[in-house]
Amino acid sequence: MSPKTPQKTTRMPEKGLPQNTVIKELETKLQRDFSYDSGKILCSMCTNPHSFAKQIYRKYLEKNLGDPSLFPASAELEQETVTMLGSLLSNPHASGSIVSGGTEANIIALWTARNLAKKKRGEVIVPVSAHHSFDKASDLLNLKMTKIQLNSRFQMDVKATEKAITSKTVAIVGVAGSTGLGVVDPIGELSDVASANNLYLHVDAAFGGFVLPFFKELGYKALDFDFSLPSVSSITVDPHKMGLAPIPAGGILFRDGSMSEAISMEVPYLSGGSKESTLLGTRSGAFAVAVWALMMHLGKAGYSATVKRCLGLTGKLVKGIQLIDGIDVVTEPTMNVVGIKSDTTDIHLISNELKKRGWAISLFPEYIRVIVMPHTKASHIKLFLKDLQTILENLN
Ligand code: PLP
Repeated sequence: MSPKTPQKTTRMPEKGLPQNTVIKELETKLQRDFSYDSGKILCSMCTNPHSFAKQIYRKYLEKNLGDPSLFPASAELEQETVTMLGSLLSNPHASGSIVSGGTEANIIALWTARNLAKKKRGEVIVPVSAHHSFDKASDLLNLKMTKIQLNSRFQMDVKATEKAITSKTVAIVGVAGSTGLGVVDPIGELSDVASANNLYLHVDAAFGGFVLPFFKELGYKALDFDFSLPSVSSITVDPHKMGLAPIPAGGILFRDGSMSEAISMEVPYLSGGSKESTLLGTRSGAFAVAVWALMMHLGKAGYSATVKRCLGLTGKLVKGIQLIDGIDVVTEPTMNVVGIKSDTTDIHLISNELKKRGWAISLFPEYIRVIVMPHTKASHIKLFLKDLQTILENLN
């Protein structure tokens, strides 16, 4: 049965049920869901939210950022959160919003780029590795999308990007932490191309935005991807991925405040009249407040320690994979995202066997993707490697 097929038609009862009865039924129904604590979730870019963020989130559920004149203090906290994220990404003067996730952030970025460019039937250039939210955005915004092949290091090919630019191009998109392999495109070179052609450059750091800023201090090679590059116009960075925040919490940051004017609308019916520059109207303030609180509580040191743990475990996973006959990593991981390939065994068979053993992993056309998130422990990696070894032995 597909997860979306309802088991039976559910009708609202004529007479309400006691809360305990409803809770019991919910507990039974929700048993089939995976839990992060089981360690079996190796396919998700989300994780168990930090307990402090959950506490704050629950406390401020009624806050509505869609009506900032009713909730001016929450709106101010949202802007402080944007400023903190901007500082992390080398621009404390960044503007933007805390939105529902990477998809909304990427749609907002292309919406802004399209309106700023004022071009009819505009075009956008993205790597083939870009998240499918750009397909959605292009469809919604009536933009023609040109997909650029990757180089031998699985990064967006810069020469091909240059060649794809036309008089209708409204934006180039680079990815800092690709969905499939966690690869970072050559954003520095893309920034040069964008500036030479006076183009908007959006960086999708939905995943990498909470990982890459800590590379230098952790002794990994620092990679240029943020506002320190002069032509980066906007960045997606998602607190609900490596930022340990409750879902939904995405971030869209602009180099400066004037950019989002291109999509902002007056909403006269709101008390006090307000401008809106997000896709959603009514939107929870609880998650923005929770992100603010968590960033204050963990500080850079807290996030850095999380990244260190995940990268350390990723290293162990890679070593383990390389010791198993018949499989290897697709490429040396840049961050805590690992692609597993096999030259000897059908990857679908390996994936099926892993799923039979309860592992939730992602299957890409040529590899299995594993993400080592904060909920993953050394014991989970050990068990996963043991299962992989057994599966490969049985299949060969
Ligand atoms: N960008 C990247 C690089 C992603 O990997 C994802 C999701 O995995 C997204 C954007 C979309 O984020 P969300 O699922 O929060 O909308």
